[in-house]
Amino acid sequence: MIQNPTNWAGNYTYRAARLHTPQTIEQIQEIVSRSNKLKALGSRHSFNDIADSYEDLISLENLNQVLELDRERRRVTVEAGIRYGQLGQWLHREGFALHNLASLPHISVAGACATATHGSGDQNGNLTTAAATLEFITAEGEIVILSREDQPGQFQRAAIGLGALGIVTKLTLDILPTFDMRQDLYQNLPLSQLENHFDELTSSAYSVSLFTDWRSASFNQVWMKRRVSKDDSFEPEPDLFGATLATRPLHPIEALSAENCTEQMGIRGPWHERLPHFRMDFTPSSGEELQSEYFIPRQHAFAAFRAVDQISELIAPLLQISEVRTIAADNLWMSPCYQQASVAIHFTWKMNWPAVSQVLPIIEERLAPFGARPHWGKLFTMQPKHLQSLYPQLPEFQELPRYYDPQGKFRNAFLDRYIFGQSI
Ligand SMILES: Cc1cc2nc3c(=O)[nH]c(=O)nc-3n(C[C@H](O)[C@H](O)[C@H](O)COP(=O)(O)OP(=O)(O)OC[C@H]3O[C@@H](n4cnc5c(N)ncnc54)[C@H](O)[C@@H]3O)c2cc1C
Repeated sequence: MIQNPTNWAGNYTYRAARLHTPQTIEQIQEIVSRSNKLKALGSRHSFNDIADSYEDLISLENLNQVLELDRERRRVTVEAGIRYGQLGQWLHREGFALHNLASLPHISVAGACATATHGSGDQNGNLTTAAATLEFITAEGEIVILSREDQPGQFQRAAIGLGALGIVTKLTLDILPTFDMRQDLYQNLPLSQLENHFDELTSSAYSVSLFTDWRSASFNQVWMKRRVSKDDSFEPEPDLFGATLATRPLHPIEALSAENCTEQMGIRGPWHERLPHFRMDFTPSSGEELQSEYFIPRQHAFAAFRAVDQISELIAPLLQISEVRTIAADNLWMSPCYQQASVAIHFTWKMNWPAVSQVLPIIEERLAPFGARPHWGKLFTMQPKHLQSLYPQLPEFQELPRYYDPQGKFRNAFLDRYIFGQSI
């Protein structure tokens, strides 16, 4: 039994017998060589068993340094265990930025990239799309380097690896010159406005998030994150498609204090302190929660909102808050946004799995006509066969772990169920 054996939310207890925390690549290779069943564990922010192992877990929390900054090519190479919060501060000091961040900065880069973690923004791909090179250790203990430029086909297949290919030790990420942002929040956006203005709304800032509790036919809050230059004279309109400009800082769950949230009210600040909703030194979100999220081709956004709204009386009593974000299409095989610009409908639930697990199949049924794909790291109930049918390239992805991991050392119950189609 490992010490502190639960994930961040405490809703999942890892079944693995041992947790290894190596300090060096050689130690990782040695652990890989002597383990029969092993899986990499990130910062434990997934809500399901994707990171668990039948036997051994390995955490790269001690390998968390920036290794190299290539200013010319605008690339940074990091150890896999680094968290976005630490990397963001470092990059900003050096004059650089990442293209986007998730709602929280606490997650590890390798863990986030393994599940296609995303933020929002019509032009922003998920966080894995910033990856230019992946370095990982295979089941044989060999080091493999895959680069987007040198092995484009293999890279597209492997980048969102769900931890199935091996232990990622290093990633090289694309970076941008650093930039400042401001957040302006609006309250009470009528749902009906999204029928004709969804594209206009989500394209009107660098990153736009909409929050709703599904208790009325409106979105409670709209978070607009804009890039600003030093002499920017931007002033937000008092009204946005019927929503009004907020006059005080807000938490997405309005009953909670906005203290944990990144600075709002149009105050300019660096990208890494505006793109996440939550501050690095505070608990993100509500802390006591479950999460689910579904990705839908964005042309179906309004129809999908309507479909969810029609069952709001089932959802609202179990919900803390829902968030809608947009994500650019990408070319990464296991990405829920593979070749489709997407809208993601997210649910932060109360900690009540028996009840939530009754509602998820109904939501999934409502969203099935739009080909909804679940977030790999969150809670869902759809049958493996259905999930597999949503990824036409899955049979070829299955070849990849067979190549790097012929004995199935890195397989776990999640992969056996959803990727390899065996029920354990
Ligand atoms: C409060 C909260 C807010 C969240 N907000 C967002 C959000 O805004 N957007 C979003 O998309 N998701 C969000 N998530 C979900 C989260 O980003 C994903 O579940 C992510 O995968 C968690 O990363 P992790 O480092 O905790 O990895 P873990 O959950 O520990 O592991 C996830 C996967 O990564 C693999 N992995 C980890 N490290 C390695 C490695 N070194 N080599 C190979 N594989 C590895 C694991 O094997 C596993 O398959 C949120 C979660 C929480 C708890």
